[in-house]
Amino acid sequence: MKDLSRRNILAASAVGGAVAAAGAAASAAGFGNPDRPAEGRMNTTPGAFSEPGPKNPALAGQFPSFQDPPPTDVNGLDLFWSSFNNAHKRVQSGGWAREVTQADFAISDAVSGVNMRLGKGGVRELHWHQQAEWAVMVDGHCRVTVMDTEGRPAVRDVKQGDLWYFPPGLPHALQGLGPSGAEFVLVFDNGHSSEFNTLLLTEWMAHTPPEVLAENFNLPVSAFKNIPIDDLWIYQGPDPMPLDAAQRAVRSPLGEPQDEYTFSMNDMKPNKVTKGGEVKIIDSRNFPISKTIAAALVTVKPGGMRELHWHPNADEWQYYISGEARMTVFNTGPRAQTADFRPGDLGYVKKSFGHYVQNTGTTDLVFMEIFKDDKFAEISLTQWLACTPPDLIASHLNMDPALTSQFGKIRSVVMPA
Ligand code: MN
Ligand code: MN
Repeated sequence: MKDLSRRNILAASAVGGAVAAAGAAASAAGFGNPDRPAEGRMNTTPGAFSEPGPKNPALAGQFPSFQDPPPTDVNGLDLFWSSFNNAHKRVQSGGWAREVTQADFAISDAVSGVNMRLGKGGVRELHWHQQAEWAVMVDGHCRVTVMDTEGRPAVRDVKQGDLWYFPPGLPHALQGLGPSGAEFVLVFDNGHSSEFNTLLLTEWMAHTPPEVLAENFNLPVSAFKNIPIDDLWIYQGPDPMPLDAAQRAVRSPLGEPQDEYTFSMNDMKPNKVTKGGEVKIIDSRNFPISKTIAAALVTVKPGGMRELHWHPNADEWQYYISGEARMTVFNTGPRAQTADFRPGDLGYVKKSFGHYVQNTGTTDLVFMEIFKDDKFAEISLTQWLACTPPDLIASHLNMDPALTSQFGKIRSVVMPA
């Protein structure tokens, strides 16, 4: 489809008899872009389109839509592509972390993202921060330890496909479990937030006068003579105690927190299954503690597409887990820009900007849509048109009502339906 011009598509359709109507031939010359405004390869010459200057073919090859945008792309948009793949990796004894904050990804002001690896026994040290933390496990197993404001503790072991959510300020720690440790992606509900800038147990202890520590903990000063001077951040720990022993050890007379901090996406049924794929929605309606982050796990089969839609409530931060994708984002102007995505890449769509996501690979495309809100919400273009009086649609689009009447009043989410 990508290489067909709109004019060619129209001509082919007309020959096939699919376009009804008077006026189709007359409008052919003005059938949107590439004629107004004239952009894209089809509106230039091979010589003018060529790129004789310096080039990194390996990198350029990853971005066919940046190299050769479809002629329907016009006027550009603020860059909505980023990636963990080229983010600085801070490596320490127990694992590593890399992040994409608004400093790296200007458009991403609602949330920032962190990709972290904890080897078996690797510990992300006890810490807290001003923003909420949402996470998805992408590999292995991890122990999550947290306490709420009532002083009620929770220790949980999570696996690939599980989520966790910590409200702002709650103290927590993470540890990679056997056999292979853990890898996960964190989302902070603030684009400026950084995993390299959190409040750490070790730093507070090291920067509190020893006699204050002694008084606070009701111990002699000498009890603190070996506390670390430098932070630990991520360090190699000993293998953790069994889960039931850890849960017994932290058990409090105050009980456990009211809301569960973790959620298993593997154990939930999809909200929607179509021939083209499926979607699971996880927000405060089924994961009540997640009051500031709503998420959707989308699977699109080869040849399928996440339908044309937008989100009226919040910006969308995308994390690509597997497969290959192409997304075009649309805004007023008109502006339209297409970008390609691979595993570990990030996309971003501002609130209410139109978009679709195609599977351009040969395997399932899996990605997450993340929103800084308590609920997932979307508007489907097809559903909207199906729910609009047909005479209005006919007079807008100059299409055969017999065709537009096929639009479904129940949205498909992933095509084909
Ligand atoms: Mn944290
Ligand atoms: Mn979307």
